[in-house]
Amino acid sequence: MTSPAPFPVSVRRGVPLAEHTTLGIGGPAELFLEPQRPEDLAERLDALDRDGVPFRLLGGGANLLAPDGGVPGAVLATGRMRRVFREGERGLRAWAGATLPQLVRTARELGLSGLEPLVGVPGQLGGALAMNAGSAQWGIWDVVVEAVVWRPVPGGGGEVVALDRATVAPRYRDGNLRGAVVLEALLELTPSDRARVRAAEEALLKRKNATQPVSASSAGCAFRNPPGDSAGRLIDAAGLKGLRVGGAAVSERHANFVVDLGGATAADVRTLLARVEETVAERFGVRLERELVVWPEPERPVAAAG
Ligand SMILES: Cc1cc2nc3c(=O)[nH]c(=O)nc-3n(C[C@H](O)[C@H](O)[C@H](O)COP(=O)(O)OP(=O)(O)OC[C@H]3O[C@@H](n4cnc5c(N)ncnc54)[C@H](O)[C@@H]3O)c2cc1C
Repeated sequence: MTSPAPFPVSVRRGVPLAEHTTLGIGGPAELFLEPQRPEDLAERLDALDRDGVPFRLLGGGANLLAPDGGVPGAVLATGRMRRVFREGERGLRAWAGATLPQLVRTARELGLSGLEPLVGVPGQLGGALAMNAGSAQWGIWDVVVEAVVWRPVPGGGGEVVALDRATVAPRYRDGNLRGAVVLEALLELTPSDRARVRAAEEALLKRKNATQPVSASSAGCAFRNPPGDSAGRLIDAAGLKGLRVGGAAVSERHANFVVDLGGATAADVRTLLARVEETVAERFGVRLERELVVWPEPERPVAAAG
């Protein structure tokens, strides 16, 4: 048994979510909770669920549009749960808040191959499992042996269970978690050597830097690629590159990225997304599906910290 940390969960009120999302957009979280360890997160989830307090999970905020009016109830942020452990010859066990750059670097330093497609991708392990983050042909679940999750049980509170990939059945850019919260996960990688892993990462990074608006505020791809096509190609072909609503715009560099040119609001981004969807549907008869997670506006704005 480990002794409990002195402050297992930091609790603050009215924390602006704009400071915790890569788009830099979002009003205050009524309660902003940052657990230190997976067990602290599970305990809080039990308590919130029993008390009927609504909650949402926040990783690196790299695929998220947070509402202008803020989030009532609790936002549980995993950013302080960052530990990564080696497990056996090929395994890395990591807590939900381990960052993707941290995991990519750790794997490389240990001479383990398998996480190269995540080079240059921001965010944390829990968010990556929720999104099945990766490339067109690969998602992080391809290397997950088990995810330890909290999930609600009838009557209130929850249970902690280990789920394997087959049980979860993740899909392209969708971890299919169905309300489960990732506490930690075990990844299985392939022994290789550092130089080879680094070379693969560098080739990928070069391609990303050439095609993506890496220095702009964005939240990655806004839409999933439709089967056999690319959302970016369709948006570009519809003439929408550079389309602007308020401070938000379709990137000139990569049409599937929405960027904040300065002062964008969540309302700007939602209007822009809707215009893109309508235009692509009219021009090509394709209904784009959102990859970007959009949290709804609250009925009443949440108060900022006083
Ligand atoms: C410049 C840039 C490049 C990007 N490139 C790529 C790319 O190549 N491939 C790709 O797939 N994505 C890419 N993305 C998107 C993003 O990096 C990934 O989706 C990433 O995995 C999101 O992780 P996060 O921790 O930031 O999740 P968040 O944005 O914080 O959350 C995303 C979703 O996951 C949920 N969630 C968060 N933590 C947990 C948890 N512990 N348990 C359950 N649910 C949870 C949230 O509630 C939310 O629904 C890019 C983003 C940017 C800004």
